[in-house]
Amino acid sequence: MMPEKKCDSVVLKGIGASPGVVVGPAFLLDYHKVKILKRQIEKGEIDQEKQRFENAVSEAENQIKQLIAEIPGEFREHSGIFETHLLMLKDRMVYDRTLRLISEKKINAEWALNNALDHVRELFEQVKDQYIRERFEDIKYAVRRVQKLLSGSPSVDFSQMESPVILVAHDLSPADTVQMAKEKILAFVTDMGSRTSHTVILSRSLGLPAVVGLENATSSILSGETLIVDGLCGDVVVNPEDDLLRHYREKQEDYIQYRLDVIQYSNLPAETQDGFRFKIKANIEFLEEISTVISNGAEGIGLYRTEVLYLAHKELPIEEELFLAYKEVVERISPFSTTIRTLDIGGDKFLSSVSQDDEINPALGLRAIRLCLKESNLFRTQLRAILRASAYGDVRILFPLVSGRSEIMQVKEHLEKTKDDLRREKIPFNGDIKIGIMIEVPSAVLLADVLAKEVDFFSIGTNDLIQYSLAIDRGNECVAHLYEPLHPGVLRMIYRTIEAAHEAGIEAAVCGEMAGEPMYLPVLIGMGLDELSMNALDIPKIKRMIRVSNQDQCSALVRNLLECSTAQEIRGLLLDFLTPNFPGEFDLSHGLYPDFAGRDAILGPLMTEMKKSLE
Ligand code: PEP
Ligand code: MG
Repeated sequence: MMPEKKCDSVVLKGIGASPGVVVGPAFLLDYHKVKILKRQIEKGEIDQEKQRFENAVSEAENQIKQLIAEIPGEFREHSGIFETHLLMLKDRMVYDRTLRLISEKKINAEWALNNALDHVRELFEQVKDQYIRERFEDIKYAVRRVQKLLSGSPSVDFSQMESPVILVAHDLSPADTVQMAKEKILAFVTDMGSRTSHTVILSRSLGLPAVVGLENATSSILSGETLIVDGLCGDVVVNPEDDLLRHYREKQEDYIQYRLDVIQYSNLPAETQDGFRFKIKANIEFLEEISTVISNGAEGIGLYRTEVLYLAHKELPIEEELFLAYKEVVERISPFSTTIRTLDIGGDKFLSSVSQDDEINPALGLRAIRLCLKESNLFRTQLRAILRASAYGDVRILFPLVSGRSEIMQVKEHLEKTKDDLRREKIPFNGDIKIGIMIEVPSAVLLADVLAKEVDFFSIGTNDLIQYSLAIDRGNECVAHLYEPLHPGVLRMIYRTIEAAHEAGIEAAVCGEMAGEPMYLPVLIGMGLDELSMNALDIPKIKRMIRVSNQDQCSALVRNLLECSTAQEIRGLLLDFLTPNFPGEFDLSHGLYPDFAGRDAILGPLMTEMKKSLE
């Protein structure tokens, strides 16, 4: 039963994390709210209660099978998770025990099933192995489905939705997000999260609008209610009245038109008015993004995050699967280059296939290169796949979360041994493949002059550099307001890194979310970066801004910013610079991030300017 429609609109304010405006029905991903009815039954009811339980289990089986059948082709590889749920339904510890409890304790099916689940939970809590412990989640999910059927709770399985829905959840892990079937989801809305969390980055890659950090979305929204999600400014309107609906539909159309307009000019070079040329590249996670990357005018892939193929499976992907995926990207992006980053698992991205003991502080734990250096088979498999793909185009390798020189030396040793193996096996690869490191740990900044001698390029990962230098969890909405890219300490770190790279004669790029934010562009231009890599959708807008910029003026601005002692001072100077130089690009009343409404004003003058440059 769908909830009654309220007449008053409610506007929830969150963080606009992935752009776009959509209207659609809410789908509450509510694993936790099935009410368990507890009832003592008569002896004569036992058989009937057992039958009710068996019926619910077979209905749950049908639902899951249907769900598997409806997974669209390109997401088929993710069906494993549902197949596990299917198996768990008939798990002896749950199924047989529930039937036994119904007759022995004379309790209703919901209660018996709940007791069986509690028993299994206790057993799993004693298991040391994390992989096995995580299987409890699968049991819990399968049991909840049966509980919902038993209690008559409305089943709001989105596989059964006829039209696409807006997903409302407390939180979504990167793995959840990968497993969502794209066709049926219009947007994501979550209680938790911040702009640079990996889940948000994934939703941007999927091209889905998202508003996160709403804190109480799951308690304010019911499945079936109409929502407007404005990923541009972070508003979620629940049960909008007609006027609001009209307003947002116009905004949606304007946004679509805006995208169509800017994309026309996306292939123009990113060159400032005074002739300073930038390489503008794209960050990707999915093969499916490549056509968007090309149409938005990217000059290569500056960051290929490779975690998705690992997150999508319960088992580790084999070398051939990795190789084929990398080769396809490399060939389709050719003649431009592809920078493939080695696995960055850990932190907020977990793999059940690599046992990671519970870490109290995973962001500071066995993440990225540390995990790869520990799990050398996993690392070598990926290196082999990348090296093999390098025979098909211009490939560069990027290593994440490097904190010092000794890690680079270990990485190089693995790389050389992998190259030797391939040579012995007469498998082609580029022997001079360029290697780079992400600069995202403060110690790497301090050592940048030393590290620059060991690698061919730097790529500054501002998402993590800010997290680790300001000690602000990048995914935590409670401290999202303290996550400050304009902190003087952060600006000095970026500046110092670029300076060290150039002194050593290597290139420096920025590939964190900062690269695609218009507000920070004059800072990055002024610091003399060589390359910016961002979500493909941000490219046309950033290129357009570069074309009306002046590098000399930006450098003068940066000199002033580096003298400032607070973020407020820096922000003030930056805003004073932005307003006359990019008139209308920023609607300052909306705070840090540009609101689409403000862009209307610049479309006119900028379009004229660009048309002129096309003639
Ligand atoms: C970064 O940290 O800025 C980065 C680009 O890497 P990721 O967001 O994948 O951690
Ligand atoms: Mg990072």
